[in-house]
Amino acid sequence: MFRRIFFLFISSFLTMIIHGRDKKDLPNFIIILCDDLGYGDIGVYGHPTIRTSNIDRLAEEGQKWTSFYTAASVSSPSRAGLITGRLPVRYGMCHDSIRVLTPNSSGGLPQSEITIAEQLKKGGYTTACIGKWHLGHLRQFLPLNNGFDYFYGLPYSNGGMTRKVVNGKAVYDVPLIRGNDEIERPVDQSTLTKRYTEEALKFIKQNSDKHFFLYLAHTMPHVPLSRSEDFADVSLRGLYGDAVEEIDWSVGEIIKELKELGIDKNTLVVFTSDNGPWVTQKLNGGSAGILSGEKGNTFEGGLRVPALFWWPGTIRPDVIMNAATTMDLFPTFSALAGIPMPKDKIYDGYDLSKVIDGTGSSERDVVFYYRGTRVFAVRKGEFKAHFITKTAYGVMDERVLDQPLLFNLNHDPAEQFNLAKEYPEIISEIRNVLREHLNTLTEVENQHEKIIRK
Ligand code: MG
Repeated sequence: MFRRIFFLFISSFLTMIIHGRDKKDLPNFIIILCDDLGYGDIGVYGHPTIRTSNIDRLAEEGQKWTSFYTAASVSSPSRAGLITGRLPVRYGMCHDSIRVLTPNSSGGLPQSEITIAEQLKKGGYTTACIGKWHLGHLRQFLPLNNGFDYFYGLPYSNGGMTRKVVNGKAVYDVPLIRGNDEIERPVDQSTLTKRYTEEALKFIKQNSDKHFFLYLAHTMPHVPLSRSEDFADVSLRGLYGDAVEEIDWSVGEIIKELKELGIDKNTLVVFTSDNGPWVTQKLNGGSAGILSGEKGNTFEGGLRVPALFWWPGTIRPDVIMNAATTMDLFPTFSALAGIPMPKDKIYDGYDLSKVIDGTGSSERDVVFYYRGTRVFAVRKGEFKAHFITKTAYGVMDERVLDQPLLFNLNHDPAEQFNLAKEYPEIISEIRNVLREHLNTLTEVENQHEKIIRK
């Protein structure tokens, strides 16, 4: 007994020294994930007619990341990467033709994966997933079975294959779920941003004296677009702008609540998007701003997204140009919460905690641009080589390039000027990085091709 108490005392003392913080100082974590919000769709990233004063304030008071990437350019694999810190190809959450999970899917995030929520629970965190899940809609795959104490939201996308025609009217047959139970079908999408926000505020209030992790994954601005009455026709950008401006309102409400509860200085808020803008939706899709590419392909606009880190008192206002990805959040949160990384898996993320407290830079030098199970492009340092290109949607024009394209992303973020002829040695270097990476992959069961047989 005495030895046990002595051991506990020593180990918590060491944890304090190593991580520089007592358990009562552990930060709360909030991820606000938008759906299909493009790199150029908020004020502080240059949009001229979408008003996002609350989101812009996160940038003024925190870190604005300009080279922040997702794990994929479409929903399910992107979310899988964020939630596990690992590339989706490592556990079968991507596919070359079935690009996302659908209401007919019987697969989902394998139980062998550790989610950020499961990881943080090891440190005593209370966890909630509010919003879009899209990592398997059968009960065994839902958030409550993946480390979340609470779930309120949609199991998959609000559009796409959920569309049905009932009495001559198009209906999106999407359920709203609380816990594991369907509570509304079809869900009234117009009030989703508002209701997610109310749920988020309630969760924050109820857990303000504990350490919590809130994963708030908005359904908007994913087509079909919707907004509440209060945001009808408020934006110069039209319906898309209305949907984004309602999310901006939501961000403002959350920050206000954190301040009122006096926990703002103890909470890291990360605001980002799951992939680039859905350009094929024309006016209903967003914008990648200066970047070329879009949701669904592997040019920058497909995977590079807005990302703001806000934590008053810890994060100093700055623009961070280091490359980072949503997969870095898992190791970063683990480090900040003093929870050791699992030893039995290959992680694709890097701990950004030194960037957050201003004592160092990101160790990430390489970004893999996956489309389905294949790597189409690789960034190393300032250079990016495209080995395969393909149109995002519609007529699929796939080109496996004998002569890869090479762009200097610092000089040419819009990927306009091919430098392949000037720097053949850089292409060889990137090929080697890719070869080494591919050697770390193993054959796994594919989750996207599992279909419910009716
Ligand atoms: Mg998306």
